[in-house]
Amino acid sequence: MKKLPIIHPFNVSGKDFIDDKIKRLNLDDINIYKNWNINWVDGKLGNYTLKLLENNSNNEKIIKGSVIVFATGHDIFKPNNHDFYGYNQEDKIISLFELGKILRTLNNVNAKKSNLKNISELFEVEEKIKNILIVQCIGSRDKNHYEHCSKYCCTTAIKYSIELLKRFPKVNIFISYIDIRTPWKSEYEYTLARDMGINFIRGKVGSIDKIDDKLIATIYETVVQKLMKIKADLVILSTALIPNSENTGLLDQLKINTWNKGFIKSKYAKLRNVETSRNGIFACGTVTGPKLIEETINEAKAVSIEIMKLFEEPELFSNFNITIVDPEKCNGCELCERICPFNIPQMIPKDNNSDEKKEFLAEINPFSCRGCGTCNAICPTAAAQLQNYSQDEIFAQIQGLLKDSEEFSDPIILGFVCDECAYASVDVLGLLRKRYPKNIRLIRIPCGGRLSLLDILKSYSEGASGVFLLACGENKCHYIDGNIKGKAQIEAAEEILESIGWKRGRNAYFTSFVADNNKLHENLIMFAKKIEEMGPTPLNK
Ligand code: SF4
Ligand code: SF4
Ligand code: SF4
Repeated sequence: MKKLPIIHPFNVSGKDFIDDKIKRLNLDDINIYKNWNINWVDGKLGNYTLKLLENNSNNEKIIKGSVIVFATGHDIFKPNNHDFYGYNQEDKIISLFELGKILRTLNNVNAKKSNLKNISELFEVEEKIKNILIVQCIGSRDKNHYEHCSKYCCTTAIKYSIELLKRFPKVNIFISYIDIRTPWKSEYEYTLARDMGINFIRGKVGSIDKIDDKLIATIYETVVQKLMKIKADLVILSTALIPNSENTGLLDQLKINTWNKGFIKSKYAKLRNVETSRNGIFACGTVTGPKLIEETINEAKAVSIEIMKLFEEPELFSNFNITIVDPEKCNGCELCERICPFNIPQMIPKDNNSDEKKEFLAEINPFSCRGCGTCNAICPTAAAQLQNYSQDEIFAQIQGLLKDSEEFSDPIILGFVCDECAYASVDVLGLLRKRYPKNIRLIRIPCGGRLSLLDILKSYSEGASGVFLLACGENKCHYIDGNIKGKAQIEAAEEILESIGWKRGRNAYFTSFVADNNKLHENLIMFAKKIEEMGPTPLNK
């Protein structure tokens, strides 16, 4: 918010707005570290440690906290010359953000002059700027850059245009857009803008050429289906709101799920949207994606309530479905420590009194474990076991589902389905009454990462003719990359079975999400057909 040049309706900069709020805080209870950077962070819910380094000095500080809140905001996309009409080369092509700075200078006699001094002066000598072209979706909704809608730019471009027109009524403003997105009350401003004579042109700007002192934009108008040329004295690019690049190192250290090139991914978008993939770490505002100011404020309040709830609990309760390590079976191999997407397992010395080489075993903090089961799938001694999906329970399900494999008319296929988007999409197939082949039988697992090679081989030994893993789509895994790890187990099964003479293709990996259920339906039918054509496995003949 601090980076915003102007905040409506207060007409102050984001920095002044925030500084004013900070002045009103009771600083006896709050430590603010200005000009310090977080160099390192680690820990768990109730006990996080951060190392801070002071800018331009060797000073460092260690601070501790029970929870962490990421409220670190966003960056604004910086268009390059090549893709975006000569921004940076041509001083009359500026960003919406820069227009905000100019407006602030024009509106506030006390404000410092903007560093875009030349343009400000052109505005002040009214005749110098007659036509202004605002180009929407720069870097947003663009496969080559960021595919998301930045949410703020349609409303902001309209607000700024209204303000410009109130101040300079003779100016012509053109807004070129793909779609105008003005939710809730901004729709009134959109109507007002049209009534005031702002021209909305539906179409993408193809090129902007400089001829004499004018910028000539070529646009194909998709409503009237005509090529248009607009002479502009000033071009404004509505640049995308993108992830804050300064977060990257910290998020990697903490192994927090991100999406879309670096926004923090909420634990559950609908119900737990201020929690991150790591217990005790919260996020609010544009650090999780484009948002308007009121949404950011609401999220900040939600985070405060979540933290108060934690502090008021006399005890912390862990989920039931967590991994527990059997110290008798654990050989301290470290595989779980290396594979856990959240860095939860830690090697601690085994309690032995001998003078021999010190032995270690894995310890898993029950309040931090997310219960994905990825460590279970790789543990060589079956020491690491989820409470709801232990090896014995999964084997029992495999046996139960394949009990009738010898008598059943069709070859039986076992599908391991992750409990997140994938299982929900199978549920939707049921709700929509979309039938899938009756020889497909499903086993629910918490995450694709829980599937082990052993589960796949056990399925064949009990009579399955095909096995698949159904997981969340690319970059959509709720446990960072459990889907990819599960896919690796499927590929390993293919390799091993091929090495003993089986034809490839009995093992498959699919992804799905709720809205994608048609594709899932198709995949299930096709896979069943393929397995039928392949016939029984060498074990079932
Ligand atoms: S808010 Fe408007 S300009 Fe911004 S990305 Fe979305 S559609 Fe494009
Ligand atoms: S993978 Fe299993 S055996 Fe290895 S350290 Fe972890 S719990 Fe122990
Ligand atoms: S179950 Fe998942 S989150 Fe828990 S320790 Fe194992 S890999 Fe990590």
